[in-house]
Formats: sequence, C-alpha cells, structure tokens
Amino acid sequence: MRVIETQTKLRSQIQEWKRQGLTIGFVPTMGNLHTGHLSLIALAKQKTDKVVCSVFVNPLQFGPNEDFARYPRTFEQDRQQLAEAQVDVLFFPKMEEMYPHGAQQTLVTVPAGLTDLLEGAERPGHFTGVATVVLKLFNMVQPDVAVFGQKDYQQWRVIQTMVNDLALPIKLFAAPIARTEQGLALSSRNQYLQGAQCDIAPKLHVVLQDVALALRSGNRDFAALETAAQKNLLAQGFDAVDYVQICHPETLQFAGADDVEFVILAVARLGQTRLLDNLIVSLNEP
Ligand code: AMP
Repeated sequence: MRVIETQTKLRSQIQEWKRQGLTIGFVPTMGNLHTGHLSLIALAKQKTDKVVCSVFVNPLQFGPNEDFARYPRTFEQDRQQLAEAQVDVLFFPKMEEMYPHGAQQTLVTVPAGLTDLLEGAERPGHFTGVATVVLKLFNMVQPDVAVFGQKDYQQWRVIQTMVNDLALPIKLFAAPIARTEQGLALSSRNQYLQGAQCDIAPKLHVVLQDVALALRSGNRDFAALETAAQKNLLAQGFDAVDYVQICHPETLQFAGADDVEFVILAVARLGQTRLLDNLIVSLNEP
C-alpha cells in the first residue's frame, strides 16, 4: 500500500491506473478506523481493480462547539488496518493540501429540503462541509465507484443528490451498518463512552427495532411512536434525545400514512457523546 500526502502524487498514480484501463474505487473516511469502515473497503474491492481510502478529519463539517480538536486521530493503527485490508493507496492529505486558502473556499450546498432537517437542523452547515470535502476528494481521486455507510443515512442521501445534480460520473454504493454484538452501531465516537454509558448505548438500536415492529404491525400514528421512543430512550438512561423521526427514505420528509418504505432516524446523547443510528423498514420485504 502506498501512502500519498499530496494531490500531485495522487494524480500521477491515478493517471497511471487509468492509462492501464483499471477501475478505481474510493472510500472517504475521517480515520480511527473500525470494522464498519473495513466493510466499505471490502465492498469497494469487490467492485473495482484499485481502491483508494482517504483519511482526513475535515474541519469544515464540524460546528464551533463540536469535537474537531479531540476527534480521535490514530494514523499508525489506521495505516496498518488499511495495509492488511489490501488498500492500494491511503490518501492522507495535510490541512494545507485540502484547504490552502483556509476559510476562503468555494462551498457546495445541497438543497435545503435535504440538509436543513435532522442532522442539518442540529448541526448547521454540517452538510455543506461534507459535500464540499467529498466533491473535492472526488475530483482528486476521480473514482469510478465510491462507497459510503448507511450509518450516516442523511449524509448518504446528500452525497447521492450531489452526484446526481452535478452529473458526476461516479457509481455510489451504500454498505449496511456494522454493529457490535449488542447492536450498537460502530462509530469512532463510541470510544468517548465510559462505564455505564457502554451498557446504555446499545439500547438505541433496540428502541428503533421496537418502532420498526410497530410500523410493521400497521401502526401509523408516527408522532405517537416518535414520542414513545424518545420517552423510552430517556427511561433507558440516555441523557437527551435530539430526535427520533420516521421519514420517507428518499426525501427524508415526514412519512405518510400510505408509505410502504420508511427510515427511522435517531440521535440520542450520553453525556457529550451523540449516538447516531437508523433503521430502514420496507413493508415489501419480510
Ligand atoms: P467517518 O470516518 O465517520 O466519516 O465515516 C466514513 C464512512 O464510513 C462513512 O461513509 C460512514 O457512513 C461509514 N461508516 C461509519 N460507521 C459505520 C458503520 N458502523 N457501519 C457502516 N459504515 C460506517
């Protein structure tokens, strides 16, 4: 595996592969890799000849009071895991490489209908930061295929929308959520959890499964289901619930009574840690 830090070196490697007619898969990450990230890489390897994984903690997608400074940075561990996973290039750009003019940066803004709600409402500007860095990385890597996690469901919809709206020639795939045995969605932020918080955290998934069960059994009182789930999370020991919302999986607008596909999205807090999870419910499938 080659570790590349500059756009120039990356471009010449990509051009070389393209000359050879090889296809390129891309997995963007912020590092501190876990099994979830590795499942994205495995999927990219199935789809393409060469795989590039980027590790870059993107300041543009963090709010002023968020965890940018303390976000876990574990480059040596990440490098080893990526080498074992037989990634071809680890792209590890420095801040000056990605944002040479600092805040003077052209931004990519996906329409508000998708970005002002849920995570976008809790974290203003977050998806502009995500879309901007992802488009920039796409332009550097020029992948045929890019893989994202269903874990960040709204992010997945934002990237799909950007790729469609800007006619980018990139095929997107989403990998299912990787979880611990207890059901907790893997996340780099899970390591902020301490003591009893570790036992409470997996209950987020259990509560979402209860909502899914209610939907499957025909309950369409979405507001009551959301309120009950929020109360249940607080009763289970979560300190706060940012949202539990039952949405249409394409538009992320409120679900309608005649819908047969839903996504239940939730964020609950344990101390300062925000735990994000979701569950897709399709009544057309068992
Ligand atoms: P991050 O490093 O948190 O920015 O995540 C990089 C990519 O990995 C994103 O596409 C995430 O959605 C995906 N990802 C993170 N956690 C998981 C997980 N538990 N299961 C599947 N994909 C994940």
